[in-house]
Amino acid sequence: MINTVRGPVDPADLGVTLAHEHVFVLTADSQQQWGLHTQEWDEEARVAQAVEKLQELVASGVRTIVDPTVDGLGRNIPRILRINEQVPDLNILVATGVYTYTDVPNFFAHRGPAVLPDLPEPMVELFVKDIEQGIQGTDVKAAFLKCAIDHHGLTSGVERVLRACAKTQLQTGVPLMVHTHPGSKTGLEVQRVLAEEGVSPTNVLLAHSGDTTDADHLQQLAEAGFLLGMDRFGIDLEMDHAARVGIVVELCRRGFASSMVLAQDAACYLDWIQPDLMQMLPDWNYLHVQNDVVPSLLQAGVTQEQVDQMLVANPRRFFGG
Ligand SMILES: [Zn+2]
Repeated sequence: MINTVRGPVDPADLGVTLAHEHVFVLTADSQQQWGLHTQEWDEEARVAQAVEKLQELVASGVRTIVDPTVDGLGRNIPRILRINEQVPDLNILVATGVYTYTDVPNFFAHRGPAVLPDLPEPMVELFVKDIEQGIQGTDVKAAFLKCAIDHHGLTSGVERVLRACAKTQLQTGVPLMVHTHPGSKTGLEVQRVLAEEGVSPTNVLLAHSGDTTDADHLQQLAEAGFLLGMDRFGIDLEMDHAARVGIVVELCRRGFASSMVLAQDAACYLDWIQPDLMQMLPDWNYLHVQNDVVPSLLQAGVTQEQVDQMLVANPRRFFGG
């Protein structure tokens, strides 16, 4: 069984799954300082809007979204519970972990091995609690782990979080999603550290793999056993729609449809972007994969069977264990 916000679900019931979306992405402390006063954040209005958008998503045929919400992304499970209760036909998988490209959050700066090398890593105990007992005082259990490594590379903070996630993966068996930056091949750093920790690449999803057109690099990671997140459709800035579709087509052609999942990394609302500038990304929404990406893939010669692998079978295998 897989833990979702509304309780355990049989992996066979995940159905069409978008393997990397968010309900909200919020900078928790900054929201506290500024968001309330600019009226950008109105709790009731934002919740109602999220319910509406997620109902539309369910109507489009999607049954499950995977939300890698963790420390650093404004995780608020009671709020997601409240939203999910109003969209009961949608499975939402949530995560535990820490999202940073550089240092650990100051909360962890002077705890555990950062103070004395012999002390246990407190993150591991907290992550295990989220997975086995529940998050933020709720019964909602994390279905997977999440951490990040961006173009800054393997900083000491990033490495500490990655190793804590690895140890938790081994202890609990839940899979790990790592935000990567394929332009600087940070997936190879992940591969090296996780090999040292003894984590199998088959339990690891390299998010944002679709941010490159380097098919040879992605093939190398797929051959190592990693699942590749082709998960930013609609963020058509450095890579446009044709390029994002093109790399998936090429990897399907090379025989790697079983190594990819599709998503948009979209949110009902995120506070990282000035709201009026969101107009620059008109296709960045929950419905883009279903409405535009799948038709483009089929037109380019990807088969319906391969599409089903990427949207149904691969997420089911990965999150279902
Ligand atoms: Zn994301």
